[in-house]
Amino acid sequence: MVREGNARRREPVRGALIHYHEIALKGKNRGFFLKQLEANLLAATRDLDCGPLRRPAGRLFLEMGEGTLWEDLRPRLSRVFGIANFSPAFVMAPDLELLAKRIEEEVSGRSFRSFRVAARRAFKTFPQTSQQINEMIGARVQRICSARVDLTNPDLTVAIEVLPNEAFVYFEKLHGPGGLPVGTGGTLACLLSGGIDSPVAAHRMMKRGCRIVFVHFHSQPFADRTSQDKAIELVRVLTQYQFTSRLYLVPFGEIQQEVVARVTGRLRVLMYRRLMLRIAEQIAHKEGAQALVTGESLGQVSSQTIENIAAIEQASTLPILRPLIGMDKDEITQQAQQVGSYEISIIPDQDCCSMFTPRQAATHTTHREIELAERPLDLDRLTAQGQAAAHSLELSFPG
Ligand code: ATP
Ligand code: MG
Repeated sequence: MVREGNARRREPVRGALIHYHEIALKGKNRGFFLKQLEANLLAATRDLDCGPLRRPAGRLFLEMGEGTLWEDLRPRLSRVFGIANFSPAFVMAPDLELLAKRIEEEVSGRSFRSFRVAARRAFKTFPQTSQQINEMIGARVQRICSARVDLTNPDLTVAIEVLPNEAFVYFEKLHGPGGLPVGTGGTLACLLSGGIDSPVAAHRMMKRGCRIVFVHFHSQPFADRTSQDKAIELVRVLTQYQFTSRLYLVPFGEIQQEVVARVTGRLRVLMYRRLMLRIAEQIAHKEGAQALVTGESLGQVSSQTIENIAAIEQASTLPILRPLIGMDKDEITQQAQQVGSYEISIIPDQDCCSMFTPRQAATHTTHREIELAERPLDLDRLTAQGQAAAHSLELSFPG
């Protein structure tokens, strides 16, 4: 919705000026990506007094209501994938004198020793060139303060973007999260443990535009509720990036007991994993998810040697995405801190895979060995049992 008269009626209007990058490269599909980005922006801010959201020439502008604080809006925007950068901005008529007056008012309340003006014209029909705007506004700023012009490393940048019917002014530019809007990349089912890795894996796939359905396996009643509570809290954090989520909690303890009764100790973890994949795959089909996601990272633990990853993978007919496969633990930990999941992940719990498992798990296996080990298990029944016992929860943000 474009409201051209807006800038003249009630100026200056405050809002967030949003630039996108990767979406701009999408050619014919750009409309599809932009629509989703707009829907996500509205979802992320639905409890704030914001709007309308407009599309002025290759940008987005989300108006802020009188009572809305930038401190409230900023963290929301920093989690909407597809945003390259964003700024708290004023929009007003594209009139040089009005702009100068407004900028004078704004800078007189700020302290800075150096500045520059960075004007851009989206259309070349404006009477002054960008350089002329820079010089004119620069001179006006210098009239009211003693700051010097510094084009390379100024304390303050006065940014102006001039469009045919309006102009935007802002003084700071914040990094957006980049990536593609959630909802443009299909649905994936993520196997979410309570650990550090899988939430980061989910986050990375959301950043590529995917919507994630979460599946957590727990060993209640043989273990306490901690891992489930952690999974719920982790999904709560991750929901800030996709706004609504579904989490499946799958009781896995009884299934594990059957494995323990029939499979030798060193292969049990592989059996658990293969069963988890089978159950997750059924849930994925039900949810229309096209692939599975795990937090596996090559060589990190014994179940993640390339042989074991291959042996586990054969249990699934869906593709398995492992966005962390080439990352080391430090990199993953850093990302977990940025995402906001780290503090939850490090709460001690009893991961179901470590239950009923000897210290020495297999690091090397063959297809034949796996086949023989699985023979005494009624895989179809166990898979159906896990799926039937799964319990789902819905989470939303803002909640
Ligand atoms: P994480 O930090 O994600 O727990 P990890 O380094 O502990 O990973 P593993 O325990 O070998 O590695 O698990 C590998 C992957 O298997 C996890 O990243 C996750 O995707 C999946 N997984 C493991 N345990 C569970 C579980 N209880 N529920 C759901 N998925 C699980
Ligand atoms: Mg783990």
